[in-house]
Amino acid sequence: MAVRLLSNSTARGSATPEGDPVLYAMESKGCGQSSDGNVDQGDGAEWAAARLEANPGHLTYREVITRSYRFEPGEWL
Ligand SMILES: [Zn+2]
Repeated sequence: MAVRLLSNSTARGSATPEGDPVLYAMESKGCGQSSDGNVDQGDGAEWAAARLEANPGHLTYREVITRSYRFEPGEWL
């Protein structure tokens, strides 16, 4: 294989200048609303707890992880 797909993110920030940090968000499966992505995984958990407190019927959530990738060019690129 001439190219490789590599993660362009690290836990704290960009692996390269054009990369992005890994972001964690929580989405309520009951209503589809979600927290803003944050590098701190606990931020989404706090959002979900507040969501449940305000909406006792919203019991199920989905974690959404955004991780940047980039291709490493091979000999043909
Ligand atoms: Zn909800």
